[in-house]
Amino acid sequence: MRPFAYVKPADVEAAVRAAVTEPGAKYLGGGTNLVDLMREGIERPDTVVDVTGLPLDMVEELPGGGLRIGALVRNSALAADRRVRTRYPVLSQALLSGASGQLRNMATVGGNLLQRTRCPYFYDDASACNKREPGSGCDALEGFNRGCAILGVSGSCIATHPSDMCVALAALDAVVEVCGVGGTRRVPLADLHRLPGDTPQVETTLEAADLVTAVELPPAPVAANSRYRKVRDRASYAFALVSVAAALEVRDGTVAEVRLALGGVAPKPWRAREAERILLGGPADEAAFRRAAEAELAAATVRAGNAFKSALAVATITATLRELSEGGTL
Ligand code: SF4
Repeated sequence: MRPFAYVKPADVEAAVRAAVTEPGAKYLGGGTNLVDLMREGIERPDTVVDVTGLPLDMVEELPGGGLRIGALVRNSALAADRRVRTRYPVLSQALLSGASGQLRNMATVGGNLLQRTRCPYFYDDASACNKREPGSGCDALEGFNRGCAILGVSGSCIATHPSDMCVALAALDAVVEVCGVGGTRRVPLADLHRLPGDTPQVETTLEAADLVTAVELPPAPVAANSRYRKVRDRASYAFALVSVAAALEVRDGTVAEVRLALGGVAPKPWRAREAERILLGGPADEAAFRRAAEAELAAATVRAGNAFKSALAVATITATLRELSEGGTL
């Protein structure tokens, strides 16, 4: 590992100052992704700004019924929070489906938001990877792309965003609080992550010194009837091939409210707006669920290794909505 400087600021303002003034600085939270990337030489910070001493580890009520989740709340603590389990079960389920128990005990909400792809070529410096080395090419396009994305991709990169938590947050219309050189601002989660286009190395809309300080969940009664369904190669410690975060309210057989987001199929948490548009106000039955899912996946760009994901996503969306419409729980 390359030598680097280490600082541990006492407050948010000092952390941002350190990131501005120290060359090549990176924030360190739980370290479950950054430390791996540093060991592999993919991330090469000159300075590590350890933010784990900042007072950002609380889950608090917001006026009106939402929740404010500090960026340093551990994934395991958030999944176990009674308010999250009862009011936002989709978020608790998504967190518990991710990584392993040990990793969830270390990983923070802020780090989960900003974790990098697990595309195997990204971690292999003998491979061409536009995200790791801009302009070098993309070995996944014609290579092992079973886990790669089918929505929102470009000819430069087809990597998926690996987070489960973010898929639930996308369905819940979460808002990310960011502190940077210009002060504090709020960014809708939908606007935090970028699609790859020609610059897959630029993954978010954040500036270099921006520090994620919290995530806000708006009050959403429909979120209580929600669930996260994850399809993967093994039951634990595996990234999603396809995942679905859904919340549904049915009145008199009609879809009165629906939130739908997908994981494992796109370079960012994918809000399924087209499917939502088709579902809203229509019949809450299996045929309608399938039609909406097929419409969402109509824009898929598949490769030899990941063509199965399109049908898998349609089936997973349909099954998740059917279960919610029947009042099913885990
Ligand atoms: Fe790199 Fe993206 Fe291609 Fe994977 S899909 S090799 S991350 S450019």
